[in-house]
Amino acid sequence: MASEGEVVSNKQVILKEYVSGLPKESDLQVTTGSIKLKIPEGCNGILVKNLYLSCDPYIRTRMKNLQLKGAYVDSFQPGSPISGYGVAKVLESEHPNFKKGDLIWGITDWEEYSLITEPETLFKIQDKDMPLSYYTGILGMPGVTAYAGFFEICSPKKGEYVFVSAASGAVGQLVGQFAKLSGCYVVGSAGSKEKNKFGFDEAFNYKEEQDLNAALQRYFPEGIDIYFENVGGKMLDAVLLNMRIRGRIAVCGMISQYNLDQPEGVYYLANIILKRIRMEGFLVFDYYHLYPKYLEMVLPKIREGKIVYVEDKAEGLESGPAALTGLFVGRNVGKQVVVVADE
Ligand code: NAP
Repeated sequence: MASEGEVVSNKQVILKEYVSGLPKESDLQVTTGSIKLKIPEGCNGILVKNLYLSCDPYIRTRMKNLQLKGAYVDSFQPGSPISGYGVAKVLESEHPNFKKGDLIWGITDWEEYSLITEPETLFKIQDKDMPLSYYTGILGMPGVTAYAGFFEICSPKKGEYVFVSAASGAVGQLVGQFAKLSGCYVVGSAGSKEKNKFGFDEAFNYKEEQDLNAALQRYFPEGIDIYFENVGGKMLDAVLLNMRIRGRIAVCGMISQYNLDQPEGVYYLANIILKRIRMEGFLVFDYYHLYPKYLEMVLPKIREGKIVYVEDKAEGLESGPAALTGLFVGRNVGKQVVVVADE
């Protein structure tokens, strides 16, 4: 166990250059530097030991040279460690909200030890009977995303027909389960047979379907009331053709478009008018005020076994580049987590 003031080695995952196209492991490099386990004089931050790091598709966006007006994130700096959501233990604190030994989740760098200079946005972990890695998933950002996107944007009603894409992932597996618990009929799509195990009414492998419109007609002969959009592209077009009158589409993500230089077109948007569809994009950051309410709902359901959460754990920071880039070829089965250290 490292002690205060000691200089220790600090493995990091560095972005080599801005990325275009499909991200590759070689776009990232694992290097070893060092860190003094002491908060510098005058810094009001915290020093943490990172335990789990979360592989999230939006990290890809930060790996390119963003020149987007109004973007909600900025680009990583090549040569510096990438960052994202993680779970960490506080080793030292100069901030009144945190003390040594606290467990937190929030934004941290991809490295073994981090100095977090502005810790105000971090969440303190109170319910320690849960697996700590869950705070990268069901009890963290993807959980709030699924909750806000499904309940706030989609306004589900019992008996409605719900379709979820990327249905086995961090967000999708939860949306499908929330929909089942709400008495909806749920179909999920994912990229392999082994991913179809989340207890939905039906699931299909979109890679095996020549005609997505025909597939959706088969699974939803009555049409779709709610689409939870995670992938975009051709799937969105096929969904628009199959929506019911006054349907809702929560636009959470469009992972099929993230690595394209030129986004695909969407052709059937006129269905939004004809069927009076409400299609709304959202970002989880606008919904963190619901986190306590979400925990109140989800914690008992986890404890009672009414919600299950599948994780895909990669061991060690060295496995980070493969785990992160694997999201874009569908290698993960469930929430992709990198295990950096034991508590
Ligand atoms: P995830 O589903 O755990 O992992 C990504 C999955 O996307 C992969 O496993 C893969 O599964 C699928 N995928 C990859 N490339 C694809 C492609 N070209 N076409 C179709 N599917 C593809 O990821 P997640 O964390 O739950 O995120 C899901 C979506 O939500 C992403 O679009 C993400 O950007 C978005 N998101 C948005 C917010 C927000 O605030 N709006 C917050 C969190 C996440 P298959 O095997 O099924 O292909």
